[in-house]
Parts: sequence; structure tokens; C-alpha cells
Amino acid sequence: MKQVLIIRYAEIWLKGKNRGFFERAFETNLTRAIKDFSCSLVKQSGRYLVCDFAEYETEAIIDKLKKVFGAHTISLAYETDSDMDSIFEAAKLICKNEGTFKVESHRGDKKYPLTSVEISKKLGGMILSQFYALKVDVHNPDFTVRVDIREHGKALVFGNYIEGANGMPVGTAGKGLLLLSGGIDSPVAGYMMAKRGMKIDCLHFHSYPYTNMQAKEKVVDLAKILSEYTCGTHLYTVSVTHIQEAIHEKCKPQLMITLLRRFMYRIAERHALRMGAQCLITGESLGQVASQTIEGMTSSNSVVEQLPVLRPLVGFDKNEIIDKSVKMGAYETSILPFEDCCTVFLPDFPAIRPKLDEIMREEAKLDVEGLITEAFASIEKIKI
Ligand code: ATP
Ligand code: MG
Repeated sequence: MKQVLIIRYAEIWLKGKNRGFFERAFETNLTRAIKDFSCSLVKQSGRYLVCDFAEYETEAIIDKLKKVFGAHTISLAYETDSDMDSIFEAAKLICKNEGTFKVESHRGDKKYPLTSVEISKKLGGMILSQFYALKVDVHNPDFTVRVDIREHGKALVFGNYIEGANGMPVGTAGKGLLLLSGGIDSPVAGYMMAKRGMKIDCLHFHSYPYTNMQAKEKVVDLAKILSEYTCGTHLYTVSVTHIQEAIHEKCKPQLMITLLRRFMYRIAERHALRMGAQCLITGESLGQVASQTIEGMTSSNSVVEQLPVLRPLVGFDKNEIIDKSVKMGAYETSILPFEDCCTVFLPDFPAIRPKLDEIMREEAKLDVEGLITEAFASIEKIKI
């Protein structure tokens, strides 16, 4: 008898003829997640098993597996021979000494001599005969012993289902360029798109020396946290210092953010096209701040010519976004108090409903192309 981890797929099940494509991506991502451990990955029908790991590494491996999109549930199980005595030996390790329990059985191997109901009854009886303080409660048990009869005379015996990350395997839904700020929202936006199978690269705008090195480190840390879900990522940084100085010098102060956003989106689209990304992703949520009104979004959207801009958080409340940020493990980093470039030259009253004709008039005072070319010269690629 040995311990194994069972990983069951999420939505991959729905994929008809394409299933092989999704399974291969899932397998690649699982292999990557456990690459630092000594263990092996085995494919079975409808599931994967992680085998041959050291017991002390179990929790660490589960933590990694919980970040792989495409996994519906994970269970720590005992793999035994499928005769009832062996199953009972494994079940004993799961049973508590008192309280109520039930047995749930499933036969992957339909040639097994007992039906699932018979397995449950028989195992339940064996447990009751040795654990005198246990009672059966099929409706609301304190714990459940689960038996899955597999092919080749093997059975899996386990107690719990651990919730997986769900979603689709990363690498099955194209590539997006995430505009990653140092805030709470954009890492969550990247997480959401990766959950649908998208590969993510990150682009961060800074205004060094107005923003400091700690602000940059914070973004690197956020990209690292995100990369655990996205099967790696590349982080690119671009300086918008001169763009902000030019806007500050020549344009109406209340349009600072609106105009800066348009530069960011233009640079992001060009970079995305160069890198083969198929969309931009932002952490905008409707009405959250002055620049995220529908007019604000229209203004920044209108400079993006070829790619869709995906805003997976557009309909979420801040609290809902914070919950997701906590869940993905980014929140503590996101709330570190370092300046973001958007707070440099921040006007007292940013325009809430910027008008496109006014924006264009202000923008005409700037050498847009020259500033973009200069910004691109500052691009850096940071290894995550
Ligand atoms: P976040 O929490 O992601 O910073 P926010 O609520 O602070 O979002 P804004 O600052 O208005 O909102 O930014 C909206 C979106 O624009 C961000 O979610 C991000 O996608 C993008 N963005 C803003 N600032 C930057 C930046 N410095 N670098 C890259 N992208 C940025
Ligand atoms: Mg922000």
C-alpha cells in the first residue's frame, strides 16, 4: 500500500474531439508544477496520479497542484490491492475512532465481483466490527471513506476532496499581455484570464525616479506570485517618466491620467503585437475610480487599433476582487505602500467623464510618436 495524489480534471471533460489537446497541456503544466520534487506523474482514465513522493513533501506538492488550472479536485489516497481485506487496511488509516461515517464506492473496473453498493455495505460492516464507537450516518456523516476500484486489481481509498483551481489548462487559450500595476486588481485580472487557459505576459509602466526601486521590486514579486498560476511569465517594464513630464508641462492637469492611459494602451498594443500576444488585459472595474468610468474606458480603448482589451474584473465589486487577491496569495504584496506611476503628478480633480474631442485637442500638443519611441527605448525584460 502506498500514498498517491489523485488529480481529477475540471472542464476538460466537456471537450469532445479536442480533448487530447487540453489533456496534453494539462499534463505539461502538472509536470512543471511538481518538477522540483522527486515523484512521478501517471495518467489514468479521466485523472492523473502523482506517485512515489516522500511523505514529508506531501503538503508542498498539494500546494503546487492547487495552482494548476484545469484540476477540479485533488485527493490524498492509499493505493492498495482491490481485495476487500486490503481495502479495509487502507480504510482503517482514514477512520476516526468515534463519531459517524459512511462509505462511498465507485467501480472504474466494471468486472469487479461486487457492485459499488455491495462494496460500501461490506466495508461499512468491516469498519463497524472493529471501531466500536463509530456509527453509520449516510446523510450527515462526520467523515466519509471513499473507495474507487481501478483496473489491474488496484483500488484507491481516500477521505477528502481538496478543491482544485478549476478552469482550463494554461496554454490552451492563446496569449495575452497583462498591464500589471502594483495594485490589487491587475494581478487578479491576470489570474482570471489564466484560469480560462490563457498564457500571460506582463507589462509594467514606471516613472523612475519619481517611483522608486521598491515599487519595481513589488511588481516583480507580484509577477512571481502570478507566474505560479500562469506556468511562468515574462515581465517587461517601460518608463513613462518623460511622457508624464510632457503631459504635466503642456496639458490640462485634470486629463493627466486619461492621457497617460492612452499612451500606456498604445505602447501595450504595439508590444503585444511584437510578442505575439492576442489581447490586452487590464484590471479595470466599472466605476471603481475616476478613470474607470465608461467614458474613461472609451477614451483609452479608442487608441487600441487591432487587439481586444479584456477586462475580466469589469463587473466585480472591490470586495470581491480583494477576496480573489487574498485567495491567490497576492493581497499582502499588493497593499505594500509604494508609489505607482499613476500617483505621480496626480491632479486634485481628475476628469471623470473625459470628452474625446477635448482629449484629442490636448493630445495634439504632444509629440505622441516621439514619446512612444523614446519610451520603447527604455524597455527592460525581467526574468521571473
Ligand atoms: P490596480 O489595482 O491594478 O492598480 P487600480 O484600481 O489601481 O488597479 P488604475 O490605477 O486605474 O486602477 O489602473 C487600471 C488598470 O490600468 C490596472 O488594473 C492596470 O491593468 C492598468 N495600469 C494602471 N497603472 C499601470 C502601470 N503602472 N503599469 C501597467 N499597467 C497599469
Ligand atoms: Mg493602480
